[in-house]
Amino acid sequence: MSTEYKPAAGKERVRKPQSEWSRQNLPINSHVKSERVYMHEPITETAWAYMKLLRENSSIKIEHEKDPYAEVYRFRDNLYAIFQESLDGMGDVWSYLIVGPEKAMLIDTGFGLGDLKGLCDELSGGRELIVAVTHGHFDHAYGNCRFERVYCHEYEAASLEAQNAHIWDYLFQDDGTPIWSEFDRNDLPVWKDYETIAVPDGYTWDLGNGYEVELIFLGGHTSGHSAFLDKTARNLFCGDDFVSMRVGISGGKPGLPYGEYATVKAFSANMDKLAQRIDEIDHLFPGHFVMDIESSAILSMQKTCHEALADPFHGYAFTSQGPRGTLYHRHVEGLGTLAYTEASIGI
Ligand SMILES: [Zn+2]
Repeated sequence: MSTEYKPAAGKERVRKPQSEWSRQNLPINSHVKSERVYMHEPITETAWAYMKLLRENSSIKIEHEKDPYAEVYRFRDNLYAIFQESLDGMGDVWSYLIVGPEKAMLIDTGFGLGDLKGLCDELSGGRELIVAVTHGHFDHAYGNCRFERVYCHEYEAASLEAQNAHIWDYLFQDDGTPIWSEFDRNDLPVWKDYETIAVPDGYTWDLGNGYEVELIFLGGHTSGHSAFLDKTARNLFCGDDFVSMRVGISGGKPGLPYGEYATVKAFSANMDKLAQRIDEIDHLFPGHFVMDIESSAILSMQKTCHEALADPFHGYAFTSQGPRGTLYHRHVEGLGTLAYTEASIGI
């Protein structure tokens, strides 16, 4: 699919001089082949400390040879969290692999750097692999073209279909120097078209013997943003709609449909529905930072959404500037903040 390539909103495609690297979080020791140069997004001390402890000391880290850009953590007997460093100066990203009785399911595909497919095949013992994404952003869906077909919610399909061979261009200066992270450009995929399968809210996959995973449409961060509920293990894979730092409500992307679902108003209505199902969910596994979060965070998010809708521009914790104007941040108890603009509140 060809659409004009546009650089990421609010980002200069120029590598920062070393003098500007100084006020960044402490480095994390790791053997991954990528090496962070500069963090564009400020990362909170708590989120960073969790990642540092986990990545440097965790006993659930799995050694593997398949993908030099990935770290693997075994959070349950049949659940692997796959870590990749961010390539564009934002928060490092988690993908998840659920190994069912007959099939495996990969949730989010990262930036595409390295051999995620080979890694999944090794971890799953060669099971048939179902691939789905929470949403279409760079860090969650640019690895899609490593696979034949990828599932997403129907309101997110246009975002996936807009991908093309130039989606990684923004990671480099015009002279080819990577801007935010050092890595071997040859380890990016050779672009190929893949099949996007758009499915509705409630769509369910069977990984064998009735081991079901259900797509739950949430909107919020993006128009078709969805979570995936592993009904057996009672885990919810929730992408960027629950993050232990900040959940940004985007208001939709210019040129893409269904922007009305990327609002606090729509997200709040979906939180009301999700809160009614809290008895089915024990833990949340977000797309970034802290994971295995207790599902009570759903009630915290619901409460914050209600407060935001009641009085959007008072009672916020702080504001910051985003590519689309002032972001209002409200605390989400036990999680982080919910951030929205005047446009993305949706009322
Ligand atoms: Zn993300």
